[in-house]
Amino acid sequence: MSAGTVTPSRCHIDLAALQRNFARLERVAQPGALMPVIKSDAYGHGLLPVARALAQAGARRFAVGTVDEGVALRRAGFSQEIVPLLGCLSEDWRAAAAHTLTPLIADFEDMDRAAACSHHDRLFRVALKWDTGMNRLGFSLEDMPDVVERLRLTPGIAPVLAISHMACADMPEKIAFSREQTECFATISGALRAVFPDIACSLANSAAMLALPKSRFDVCRPGIALYGGNPLADTVWAKRGAGLEWVMSVSAPVVRTRLVRAGRSVSYGQMFIAPKDMTVAVAAAGYASGVAHTLSNRMDVLIDGHRAPQTGKICMGLLMADVSAIPGARAGDTAWILGGNAAPGVSPVTAFEMARALGTIPYEILCRMGSMNPRVYD
Ligand SMILES: *Cc1c(COP(=O)(O)O)cnc(C)c1O
Repeated sequence: MSAGTVTPSRCHIDLAALQRNFARLERVAQPGALMPVIKSDAYGHGLLPVARALAQAGARRFAVGTVDEGVALRRAGFSQEIVPLLGCLSEDWRAAAAHTLTPLIADFEDMDRAAACSHHDRLFRVALKWDTGMNRLGFSLEDMPDVVERLRLTPGIAPVLAISHMACADMPEKIAFSREQTECFATISGALRAVFPDIACSLANSAAMLALPKSRFDVCRPGIALYGGNPLADTVWAKRGAGLEWVMSVSAPVVRTRLVRAGRSVSYGQMFIAPKDMTVAVAAAGYASGVAHTLSNRMDVLIDGHRAPQTGKICMGLLMADVSAIPGARAGDTAWILGGNAAPGVSPVTAFEMARALGTIPYEILCRMGSMNPRVYD
């Protein structure tokens, strides 16, 4: 999205915070062991700027979503190993091979397609995808003898990575299931290593790498934690993800403030009636810039470092907030929808808080805000 087109609200991306999160997570895993997950436009933070910042911080691999995202990285000059997590659709195979991506092989059809793109003089590096409990994509442990045999017969394909995905790593109450997945993957990893000694094994997402050391294997794939979300925040394991910093914040200009008399309503439908004389700020963000209408009367924004309760229905491009307790608030101020500098004792609004109010997860908030607002890189 180009700046200044649809909405005056802005998504601010703090790349230095991203790099600090990367360094912190690398210390949890081991040097060189991270494969940052930058799928879906880096969770709304912008594929290329995020990849650049992470490469600078030392990333040697990237997990993207689509083959197109991988090709975009290659075209921008990235030489890291790139794994498109969504797998290849039929027309993607040649692009993956041509741009030396490391595509997922999740079934025997994939193996045939990869074989058709491989050359004897140039190995096609691939990642084997295993199902250990998601029941989504990947081979099962029972497929192992066939997988190994087929790979033996296809010398053009080099399996360099084995991947599986945790279903419940952010749920302490499901630790038995997480252990089952980890043990299953350990068996898979052992069997593969016996045949391909150099294969790297990767199971852990953010929650798993923070909470379950045995899930770390060779390569960890953090996503949400890189962007500052502690996936364990609401659990008894919260401390294991402490210290991460949010990378995204969202601002909207306050376009005016006005006095609303006691008993008068604000915005559509008279959902909010002023209980007393109050000062209301009008800020230029709304559901067209990602602030869900469902949040009407149910969220705060941060103005002048203080929380202002949002009042009345959220409009397409505007929202109102009660600034009666923030005497300095005036047109030209910034209303922070997410993040911003809070006064001592005040906490900024986080993607977790917004997600809870909406009955969703912070991932969705980041994707939504990042794709619906022009991004600026601080
Ligand atoms: C999205 C994704 C991740 C990252 O998950 P987080 O919970 O954001 O850390 C890792 N692996 C796979 C396969 C994914 O799809």
